[in-house]
Amino acid sequence: MKLATKFIHAGAEPDPSTGAIMTPIYQTSTYVQEAPGKNKGYEYARSQNPTRKALEDAYAMIENANYGLAFSSGVAATDAVIKLLNPGDEVIAANDMYGGSYRLFTKVWERYGIKFIYVDTTDAANVKAAVTANTNLIWIETPTNPLMNISDIAAISTVAKAANAMLCVDNTFASPYLQNPLDQGADIIMHSATKYLSGHSDVIQGALMMNDKELREKLYFIQKSCGAVPGPMDCFLLLRGIKTLHVRMKQHCENGEKIANWLRSNNKVSKVYWPGFEDSTGYTVAKKQMRGFGGMISFELKDESIEAANKVLSSTHLFSLAESLGGVESLINHPASMTHASIPREERIKNGLSDGLIRLSVGIEDADDLIEDLDKAIG
Ligand SMILES: *Cc1c(COP(=O)(O)O)cnc(C)c1O
Repeated sequence: MKLATKFIHAGAEPDPSTGAIMTPIYQTSTYVQEAPGKNKGYEYARSQNPTRKALEDAYAMIENANYGLAFSSGVAATDAVIKLLNPGDEVIAANDMYGGSYRLFTKVWERYGIKFIYVDTTDAANVKAAVTANTNLIWIETPTNPLMNISDIAAISTVAKAANAMLCVDNTFASPYLQNPLDQGADIIMHSATKYLSGHSDVIQGALMMNDKELREKLYFIQKSCGAVPGPMDCFLLLRGIKTLHVRMKQHCENGEKIANWLRSNNKVSKVYWPGFEDSTGYTVAKKQMRGFGGMISFELKDESIEAANKVLSSTHLFSLAESLGGVESLINHPASMTHASIPREERIKNGLSDGLIRLSVGIEDADDLIEDLDKAIG
């Protein structure tokens, strides 16, 4: 099935009791049972909910996965994956990733005896070199937030298999419209569904997708035992958002390309990070594993002062100054003080995330209006 058809029909079965074409919001905490132990497959809403079930089927379908699981946020989904591990286990993680994942790993899970080793995953050889007998999980993001670094999913999955470790890919930035990591050998996909999957900046949610039945059972056990489940209204919003993922992503990609090229030609801008430039380091791998390059762009000004960056950040009108990404409206963000403030400055600078870096989530407005807005702000 082609992408457009898949996104519209994913998880969409007419409601069995009424035929409603849209899955109803089953706002209930429990289900009446005919007799003790005799029920319709639904017992208590932390364990099962029909709206969530429809969404989980949709999650599986859009990532070409056998199974999908919905969580109350992206970090709750990440947390569930780490809970597969035991004290003493080691995780090889990317040294350039979402600040909240880094915070969860270092500030929460290290206290429970899980060790995280951060490497530059843009070269699979670095991952291989970090493998030990205790390596159980490899965690990557591609493209990364905010430097748009690209890691080779297939190459890293080969390393993971040889190490007998799982590979989990945070696919939030690419979305299933641009990239399907399970098809490239990953074991688990994580999404902050808050972003492109929802697409309308109105819900927080996370998703996990996987093919292996045993892995699904373990993660389902964690989902119901730890309880970080989304409510039925939020599941409904996700089901609705996914239906337009392809049309939104197509426009995000088109606008992203125009703005990336415009920024590159601007004489006040020193560097633009966008995986679609043919001369960018990750281009060959991006071209191999992605169907397009998305609408996430970061850039630096020639004037490297924080004041210069602040002036741009506070002068745009169409680009709203806010954390998050992936909505229909454009956002502008200052990673060093906002999304990535939880990473120590020294770590950030070492990994190339400068104080002046500005990140854009290019929305689906008219690209000419967006360029005019940036042009006035950059001056
Ligand atoms: C936002 C984000 C997360 C965390 O997801 P939440 O839904 O905010 O909990 C994880 N990874 C990436 C790449 C993100 O952008």
